[in-house]
This record gives sequence, C-alpha cells and structure tokens, in this order.
Amino acid sequence: MTEPSDSKTVWTIRDVLTWTTNYLKRKGCETPRLDAELLLAHNLGIERIRLYLDFDRPLSDGERLGFRDLVRRRALREPVALIIGKKEFWSLDIVVTPGVLIPRPETEILVQVVLEDCQGLLNLAILEVGCGSGAPLIAVSSVRPDIQLFACDISINSLNCASANASNHGFAAQIFFFASDLLESVRAEHMFDVIYSNPPYIPSNNIDSLAPEIRDFEFRKALDGGLDGLDLIRRLIPTSRDRLKPGGRLILEIGEEQFDSVKKLLETNGFSMVRVFKDLSGKNRVVKAVT
Ligand code: GLN
Repeated sequence: MTEPSDSKTVWTIRDVLTWTTNYLKRKGCETPRLDAELLLAHNLGIERIRLYLDFDRPLSDGERLGFRDLVRRRALREPVALIIGKKEFWSLDIVVTPGVLIPRPETEILVQVVLEDCQGLLNLAILEVGCGSGAPLIAVSSVRPDIQLFACDISINSLNCASANASNHGFAAQIFFFASDLLESVRAEHMFDVIYSNPPYIPSNNIDSLAPEIRDFEFRKALDGGLDGLDLIRRLIPTSRDRLKPGGRLILEIGEEQFDSVKKLLETNGFSMVRVFKDLSGKNRVVKAVT
C-alpha cells in the first residue's frame, strides 16, 4: 500500500477518506467509502458523523499509522465488522468476535416477523436457537423488554458474545442463556410459544464461491448447512415441533431458494399455515409456521 504520504505534509480527514475510498475500491471492496469512514472513525475513537464535522482536521502521524494498519487489513478483505469489533444491527451497536456470524441486514426481517407475531401478546415464552452474537435477541428485547427470552447456542464463544451484548444494552435480566446443540439440551417440560432461529443454511459447496469477506474470514460453522444447506433445519423442525405449545410458531431464516423444501419439511412434521416473508431485495428470507 503506497500512500503518497511523503510528498504531502498535511493529511486531513477529507484527504484520507478520499485516498482510502479509492484504494479500497481498487481492492474490490463493495462499499469503499462507508468502510473508510467506519475504519477512520474507529481509529480516531469518534462517531462517524464527527468525521464530517471535522473534515479539515489534520491527522497526526500516529493516527495515520494506526489507520494504515486497519486499511491494510480491509484491503485483504477482512470484514470491517471484525476489524472494528462491532456491527450495527437494528440501529444498535452489536459487538462481534471472530467466532460468531456477523449480523446481516436481512436478518432484521426475522426480527420483524418475530415482533409482529408477538404483537399484543403478553407472558410469552420465546426461544432463539443458535443465537450467535445475540443481534436478533437484543433487537427483540429493545422493542419488547417485557418478554423473557431464552437463547441457546452450541458455542461457548457465541454465548459469551451474546451475553456481553445483552449486558451492554441493559437486557441481561431479560435473556436466559444456555448451551445446547440446537434443542438437544432443552428439557421436555419446557414449552414455548415461539421458537425462532437463523441457522446455518448455506450449502457447503457454495461457500467457496462467496465473497472473500465471507469465504476467508467468517465463522464457517455458522454458515455451513451441509450438502443442500438444510442439515440443521431438517433437525430443527421436528425437535421444535416437540417443544412448542399448541398453536406455537416456528420462525426461521432460510436461503432464498429453500422455501419449497422447507415448506415440505414443515408440513410433513405437522406444521401448518406456512408463510414466507421476503427481504428488502425481494428474496424469500423468513418462513413462519404454526403447530
Ligand atoms: N445470509 C447469510 C449469508 O448469505 C447466511 C446466514 C446463515 O447461514 N444463517 O451470508
């Protein structure tokens, strides 16, 4: 990375953003300006908006040096969220670590469907299976702090990350975390009104053709759904059926091409009223079914 720094003595925030945006664009990053802003704000320890208020502020040599390291990592296509250790989801800052899936904007649809499903209902028992960073949980809690949520994950790293996020946002008391491989450790007497999940659903063979950010840096276990992507969903459907109260709902994020197969799995396992919800790019993204 050759920043033409030697020929220039003063580098303002504006200069650095322009230079970095062009550099990251050449490296194939899809949102180079946003990335440059997020990395610089993180490096300077300020809110992104402040960059615009201090556009003409010069950077010290130390600040430029630190920033250059972050830009170098991004140029190798490490996701911004892993470099800065957080990602915005549902307008909330969610801490992320290398052992969790980075929250995706399309997962906000999952949150919306869960919230709509719970609208006007009180005293619900809700379980999130495979909570990862905890992003959907924190989002649900932020709108419905009255609901007691239960959340499990097979990975202790995920449970640590999710419970740190719950504490950061003040929802530690509303969410009960426990370790479980899908629903294996949920005791038979525990029955829920709603079970929801964003399980790994990408077919194993597709992972290598994904963007380098995902292929080379993201936690594979949170993405890999086996040969056809449905391995975990295939286990999740019948076990959820057994843990849902009569009239209980299962809400799942799925891959855009998986709706027909998932609908069939749901119906053969005693679910009905199967509905699909699209994400903002018009792709099938979330299914809901009733016991
Ligand atoms: N939507 C994610 C992606 O395409 C996959 C998330 C998942 O497997 N649960 O990268």
